[in-house]
Amino acid sequence: MSLFDLTGKVALVTGANAGLGQGMAIGLAEAGADVVCVSYIASDETVELIKATGRRAEQIVADLSKPEVLEDVVTKALAFFGRIDILVNNAGIIRRAPAVEHSWKDFDDVIDLNLKTVFYLSQLVGRHMIERGSGKIISVASMLSYQGGINVPGYTASKHGVAGITKALANEWASKGLQINAIAPGYMKTNNTAPILENEQRTQSITDRIPAARWGLPEDVKGPVVFLASSASDYLNGHTINVDGGWMAR
Ligand code: NAD
Repeated sequence: MSLFDLTGKVALVTGANAGLGQGMAIGLAEAGADVVCVSYIASDETVELIKATGRRAEQIVADLSKPEVLEDVVTKALAFFGRIDILVNNAGIIRRAPAVEHSWKDFDDVIDLNLKTVFYLSQLVGRHMIERGSGKIISVASMLSYQGGINVPGYTASKHGVAGITKALANEWASKGLQINAIAPGYMKTNNTAPILENEQRTQSITDRIPAARWGLPEDVKGPVVFLASSASDYLNGHTINVDGGWMAR
């Protein structure tokens, strides 16, 4: 299984304190990577779980919606382990309100973190990867990178953008030894979907539409992120992998 071995690699995972980011950070560590966890709240639990796998882990607390902190985040991350081989752009927010009354602030906040920060951070880390001639950038897209959704116009715009920027960066950086891809999770049980899960009827109607007949869990993104972070995916570029229990096939 050496194709999937991440021993000696260093990953930076945003939004690693909980949910899918935590699942991916632990999955990367289980495959051998050391991990720098970045979130706007402490990632203590994730750091402990990574250390329990025998890998090294550090954390940075930063509000990634503020572009002025991003250079500092990358400098600090590089200072921990000397390199970044894998960047996982996972941090994201969602704001729900019908389009007719959706506030511009909600729209802007979502675009700032979910889309602009994905580009800015990819650029900052990408420069360092290009210098070294290798690197893996994995961004978290969504079913709403394809579909329109309801009451989430900013989120949908941001996740369509994530799929687009993944292709744009792949076009420019594939020849420089970098692979830029995305994971599009379906309906996963995390804080992001907690308001939906409170509504039993809505939850059931979604479950009924998922061919796998269940919602996804943070563990479900471990395998896909290890694949995209490892040399097993060295000829994959600009692609978004759906991890959705078959939702998009329906
Ligand atoms: P979550 O709310 O548990 O995770 C969001 C993460 O982003 C947290 O770690 C949080 O600390 C971090 N974050 C939020 N604002 C931040 C900021 N300003 N600065 C730094 N970090 C910040 O939910 P999740 O479902 O694990 O979401 C992770 C990613 O997966 C998001 O990009 C989300 O859009 C995407 N996603 C989730 C689902 C789902 O069904 N749960 C489906 C598709 C895509």
